[in-house]
Amino acid sequence: MSTSTPFTRFQKTLHTVLQKIKLEDGQNTLFDDPQFVHKKDITIQSGNGSEKKFHAFRVQYNNARGPFKGGIRFHPDANEDEVKALAALMSIKTAVVNIPFGGAKGGVQVNPKHLTSKEVQEVAREYVKAFHENLGPDIDCPAPDVNTNSDIMAWMRDEYEKITRTYSPAMITGKPLSFGGSVGRDTATARGGFFILQEMVDRLALDPGDMRVAIQGFGNAGANMAQLLHQAGYIVVAVSDSQGGIYSQEGIDPIRISKYKSKTGSVTGEYCEGSVCDIERMKMDDVAKISNEELLELDCDILIPAALDNVLTKENANRVKAKYILELANGPTTPEADDVFEKMGTRVIPDVLANAGGVTVSYFEWSQGRSGEQWTDEQVDERLKRVMLDAYKAVRREARREHMTYREAAFAVGIKRMLDAMQVRGWI
Ligand code: NAD
Repeated sequence: MSTSTPFTRFQKTLHTVLQKIKLEDGQNTLFDDPQFVHKKDITIQSGNGSEKKFHAFRVQYNNARGPFKGGIRFHPDANEDEVKALAALMSIKTAVVNIPFGGAKGGVQVNPKHLTSKEVQEVAREYVKAFHENLGPDIDCPAPDVNTNSDIMAWMRDEYEKITRTYSPAMITGKPLSFGGSVGRDTATARGGFFILQEMVDRLALDPGDMRVAIQGFGNAGANMAQLLHQAGYIVVAVSDSQGGIYSQEGIDPIRISKYKSKTGSVTGEYCEGSVCDIERMKMDDVAKISNEELLELDCDILIPAALDNVLTKENANRVKAKYILELANGPTTPEADDVFEKMGTRVIPDVLANAGGVTVSYFEWSQGRSGEQWTDEQVDERLKRVMLDAYKAVRREARREHMTYREAAFAVGIKRMLDAMQVRGWI
């Protein structure tokens, strides 16, 4: 049983990279702690008149390069350690894609599935009341994360504008299109990852039509990625959600899977009702039901974890057959698994690069909020592609020059950019 936590896993990679880039004396501890950790309990009135209290956090890791930026998650397991690790990763991520932000993250320890919609709205508004002095377009700009969505962002913006008596569409991103959102934000994470994968496949002179892809997670990131890959001619051989997965050597049609998922709640919905499956029909269609663990170890070329953290570990890494791993999820690979993949020659495109499309289009939304402009789909897509490919190029160059893995190279690129800004500001 591993005793590591999200933050100790972040620190392990951080310190490996800091040693490799040979900083000046005393600089090795520069990124050990966040600049600010804000913690408060927030209280809401529940429907029956009683009070409910939740722990809430906002961790602001580093703002040398611009306002803090990072999502807010509502989850029963949200805790300071996890939020700290995610805030640290955001600082690296915004620097890797070279957008003018620092890194932050927020969390409320709550299960929104146990609340009414009115109570969720109250939690959102109370969060802003608790932390508004530390938020704002020039200070810290939150966004959606696990279990938070565009409605919650709209309530948060409204609450902030009420408290501060300002018009501040740029205080938060991931808002509804009708309330200051940007086109393209909903598919941005998948599109960003797709641009990088496509570039890698091109440069390696591989044929998308020969590439078999397995995707864990069929939500915003995973389902959109499955559709993009399918449209581009890749063979999506497996997808999964929390209830398990489906595999077909011939390839599956993600649009069809999406249709059944919205009808039945599961990617296996075409063939199975709960644990009971129509085996005859599955055989006829050459389809098999698989577990999430089996999906990770399938015989395929590209593996895309797009659900949970900590799923590729030293226990299963040497059974992973894919030669390329694109991390759409945050933190799916432990540092020990990274070591195994390096020895096996498996290329891992790390989360801080692969899933940075989301925060990049959040930056576009922030810019539009500040300028009053409204960009078109084409403008967003073209600029997203440019940002992602520039970041990929910088990471690839660093990896080659310094003999690093892509994760180490991405950290190195990010850290060097942060150090440059910290130097200008006289912090070091
Ligand atoms: P989502 O809630 O839309 O989808 C999550 C998917 O994971 C669902 O299909 C769910 O069924 C599945 N899942 C849950 N538990 C699972 C389990 N035990 N095994 C397999 N699948 C399981 O979330 P999302 O926005 O797609 O985010 C997925 C990952 O991508 C997270 O790690 C998130 O931090 C990361 N990410 C998302 C974005 C974004 O813009 N959506 C940006 C950056 C990173």
